[in-house]
Amino acid sequence: MLCRIDRGKFWPVAKIIGIDLGTTNSLVAVVDSGIPLVLADGQGRRLTPSVVQVPASGEPIVGWEAKRSRAAHPETTVTSVKRFIGRRGDDLNLAKDLLAYPINANNKKPVTIPLHGCEWLPEELSTEILKTLKIIASEGMLDKPEAAVITVPAYFNDAQRNATRRAGELAGLKVERIINEPTAAALAYGLNSLKEKSKIAVYDLGGGTFDLSILELNKGVFQVLATCGNTCLGGDDIDRVLVEFLSKQIVKSGGPLAAENATVLARVEESAEAAKVQLSSELETTIALPFLTPEFSFEFVLSREQLERLSKPVVKKTREYCLKALADANLNNDDLDQVILVGGQTRMPLVQEFAAEFFGCGQGKPELNTSQNPDEAIALGAAIQGGILSGDFSDLLLLDVTPLSLGIETFGGLMNVIIPRNTTIPVKRGEAFTTVADYQKDVLIHVLQGERERSLDNWSLGRFTLEFEPQPKGMAKVGVQFEIDADGILHVLARDIKTGNEKIVEMRSAVDVDDADVQQMIEESVEHAFDDIEERRWIEAKLRIEQTTEATLKGLEAYGSQLPNEQRSEIEAALTEAKELLTEKGKGGAVTAASLKEFNAKLDSATQPLADLMMDKVMEQMLEKKGILPN
Ligand code: AMP
Repeated sequence: MLCRIDRGKFWPVAKIIGIDLGTTNSLVAVVDSGIPLVLADGQGRRLTPSVVQVPASGEPIVGWEAKRSRAAHPETTVTSVKRFIGRRGDDLNLAKDLLAYPINANNKKPVTIPLHGCEWLPEELSTEILKTLKIIASEGMLDKPEAAVITVPAYFNDAQRNATRRAGELAGLKVERIINEPTAAALAYGLNSLKEKSKIAVYDLGGGTFDLSILELNKGVFQVLATCGNTCLGGDDIDRVLVEFLSKQIVKSGGPLAAENATVLARVEESAEAAKVQLSSELETTIALPFLTPEFSFEFVLSREQLERLSKPVVKKTREYCLKALADANLNNDDLDQVILVGGQTRMPLVQEFAAEFFGCGQGKPELNTSQNPDEAIALGAAIQGGILSGDFSDLLLLDVTPLSLGIETFGGLMNVIIPRNTTIPVKRGEAFTTVADYQKDVLIHVLQGERERSLDNWSLGRFTLEFEPQPKGMAKVGVQFEIDADGILHVLARDIKTGNEKIVEMRSAVDVDDADVQQMIEESVEHAFDDIEERRWIEAKLRIEQTTEATLKGLEAYGSQLPNEQRSEIEAALTEAKELLTEKGKGGAVTAASLKEFNAKLDSATQPLADLMMDKVMEQMLEKKGILPN
C-alpha cells in the first residue's frame, strides 16, 4: 500500500538564487531554511567586483583578480559594463560615458567593446560575471544552481532588461525574474524590520545608478507607488570628480597628465575610490602613488571635508528625483514611515546627511533606516524573491507600476488612454470602440505610450490591423484590452465583438522605460499641458461638428421638406457657418476650442427640430415593424 509523502523532503525543490548584478560589485544570495544569505567565495569574500579582464588567450578573468590586474592591463579590463548593457550607439545618455571608455557606439547598433580585435557585447561580459557568481553559488549550496532572479535598476528599459536576461541565459541560468533593485532591497528590509502597512522610500545610490522608489508594504504585499532615478548617476561620478581633482594635483606637482596615460589613470582611479571609501570612516587619508612614472611619485593628504566639497554637486543631483518620486506617489515626507538606504555609496556620511535632511529624518519620522548592509540588501531581496517563486515564502507578492500611460490612437489623431500612468501591475483594462467610416473591413490598432494628448507626440509601441465584418459606421464594435503581466510585458487584444474574431499582440515591456525619457515625457506634458488640452478640445469639438453636419445633411435630404421653411433656413445657415469655422482654422484662423464648443451648442439647437423629426420617424418605423399602429 502506498501513502502520500512530503515530496519536498526527498526531492528538494531546486533553489532559485538571487543575483545583484551591480555596476561596481555583484553578489549572489540564496534562501536557506527560510533565511536569506549572501554566499561567499572560497576566500570568504561576499562581493565580487564587476570587473572582467580578457586576456589575449584563455578564459576571461573576473572579479578580484581582474580588478587587481586592471592597472597593468587597462585596455583589456572592463569595468562598469552594466552602463553599456542593452544600449545602442545613438543612445544620448552614452555621450558622457563615451569619453571615459573605449567602446564602439555606432548609430542604431548595440554598443560593443573592442578587446583583442573582437567586438564584445556588454551582455557577453556580464555573462562572465554571472558564471563566476554561479560557481560561488554552487560551492556554497547543496544543489547546483539552475535558476536565478536578477536585479536591475528600476529605470532599465526593455532592451537593457532583455540583455541582462540574455546574459543570465548565456551563463546557463534560467532567469525566473528580472526585478527592480529598490524593490529587492525593500524585500530584504521588509522581512526583518518593517511593520505592517508602511510607506517607505528606498534611496539607492550605487556605483553607477541612482533610484528613489516609494513603496507601500501592507500585509506582506509590496506595492511600488512610484520610482524615479538616473541610470548614469552614482559613486562613479564621485570617483570621476575626485580623479579630476587628483590629476590636477599631480600636474601641479610636476607629474604626468593622467588622462594621457592609461596606466597612470587606472592607478589614480583605483586610489581615488579607495580614498573615498576610507573617508567614510576617517576624517583624513593619505593617497600614495609611488612611481607613477619611473621618475615621479605622488602623495597627497585628502580630508573628508575636501571630498565632501567635491562630491556635493553629485549628491545634490539626487534631490530632483526624490522630489519627483514623492510628487508622483502623491505623498510628502510626513507620509513616509521609513527611509531605507541601499547601495555602497550610501555609506558616505555626506549621503546619509543629505537623505536625513531631505526626508526630515531625526525629528520623529520618517526614520532613516540603515539596519541592513547596503551592499547586500539587493542580493538578499533577490534571493527572497527566488524564495517566493519556489514557494519558500508564500505570503509575499511584488507589485510594480506603469511609469507612463498606455493607450491607442483614435480618430482625429488623439491618444485614448486605457491604462493611466502609475497604475499597479499586473493589470487588465479594456474599452470598446467603433468605426468612423462605413463598411470598414479592418481597423488599425496603434498602441501608444506617453502623457501627451495628440498621438504623434507620444511614443509608438507598435501597430497591427484587426480584420472584421464590414458594418455601417458606428455599428461595428471593437473591444481593445490591454494586459500588463507581472514582468511588465504589454499584451494587446483587439476583438470584433460581433464575430469574436480577435488578435493578441505582445508589445515590448510597458514598465521598462529609460528614466530620462520618462522625465522628458512628463516635463513636456506639463510644458504643453495648456496647448495640448486646447488641441484635444478643438479636435473633439471639430469631430462633433462634422458628425452633426453629416447626420443633418442626411436628415435634410430625407425629411427636410417636412420642416417649416424658417427652421430649414436656420439649419442651412448653421451648416454654412460650420463649414466656414472649420476651414478658417485650417487656414490658420483663430477659432478656439471654446468658440467651437459654443458653436456646437448653437448647431444642436438649430438642428433640434430636425433631430426630433428624425426620432419620430424612427419610432414610427419601429412600431410599424412590431405591428403597433399609431393612434
Ligand atoms: P554598489 O553599486 O551598491 O556596489 O556601490 C558601489 C559604490 O559604492 C562604489 O562607487 C563604491 O566606491 C561605493 N562605496 C562602497 N563602499 C563605500 C564606503 N564605505 N564609502 C563610500 N562609498 C562606498
